[in-house]
Amino acid sequence: MNISEILTEWYEIHKRNLPWRGIENPYFIWISEIILQQTRVSQGWNYYEKFISRFPDISALANASEDEVLLLWQGLGYYSRARNLHHTAKHILKYFNGIFPNRYETLIKLKGIGEYTAAAILSFAFKKPFPVVDGNVNRVISRFFGVTEPVDLPDVRKKIYILAKNILNEKKPDIHNQAIMEFGALQCVPQNPDCANCPLQSGCVAFSKNCVEKIPAKKPKKEVENRYFHYFFVKQNEKTFIRKRQESDIWRNLYEFPLLETEKNLSETEIFDSQEFKKLFPDFSKFTILNISQIIEHQLTHQKIFTRFYEISLSQNFANSYFFENFKNIDFAEISDFAVPKLIENYLKN
Ligand code: SF4
Repeated sequence: MNISEILTEWYEIHKRNLPWRGIENPYFIWISEIILQQTRVSQGWNYYEKFISRFPDISALANASEDEVLLLWQGLGYYSRARNLHHTAKHILKYFNGIFPNRYETLIKLKGIGEYTAAAILSFAFKKPFPVVDGNVNRVISRFFGVTEPVDLPDVRKKIYILAKNILNEKKPDIHNQAIMEFGALQCVPQNPDCANCPLQSGCVAFSKNCVEKIPAKKPKKEVENRYFHYFFVKQNEKTFIRKRQESDIWRNLYEFPLLETEKNLSETEIFDSQEFKKLFPDFSKFTILNISQIIEHQLTHQKIFTRFYEISLSQNFANSYFFENFKNIDFAEISDFAVPKLIENYLKN
């Protein structure tokens, strides 16, 4: 038996029953693949079902507001992926009459669809011979063929893609791809893979050279940047103030409270004395501080956000022009209608 046959035989016995398994609708495949790039299967399942029940096809997604799409996505992180989903749905509706393209060259030009997602859509939905190389496949291939260089280097990625293509069963690319992905997820796992009971063991270079735990190798990590946020939860009667974040660094188009960002960690007194604070609260005598939270640490991929939340009440009838011009004035109860970063969602829950 060749590698593909071994993997397929293993797959038929061990595969998990997942809601998107065997689906041939390219729209559903696309949604599931983008969600699974964000999260583990157990959490992704829930999001996938919510997403396709609210947006059962391209036109439902294209015609929704971006706020609604982001709200359903809330908690998954990487919000640019949700914005890209929405943008691409609109594009497909407008330029392809709502019909999913089935050519690699067309798919790869769509926002948010890279080599991996295009291959998944083409092989699962259209049975075209494209190898899918996700993290799981990367691991299986690099271990089996003994690729010791960092797999995140462009040349090494190319090499792994070629190896993946060489072992692809072109007659059944959908089953082959599902099988190797599942094999990486369940058998050839990152820590302590079950090599003793592995059907690929006799040909596996990493196993024979006793370097399984060292593969796949990665480039040294980028340094994490620390950022210091001060969010002001301003209360006036039953209302508060939020705005849509426009900055392109993180959380673009999500909603947030008035924010001051500082270059280092400042004490409350230093914050209240700062020029930025005085600009944000020109007439602070009309405000009362109700509570200041401990510093909350929030980890993103390359950033760590240190945040304090300041709960502040604004005099009942005082119309602070700065706030009314720059922020949306909403009822507390309405906050759940707006997509907010996980950091703010957690704060509100507590
Ligand atoms: S022998 Fe171990 S490292 Fe090699 S493919 Fe099997 S599980 Fe992965």
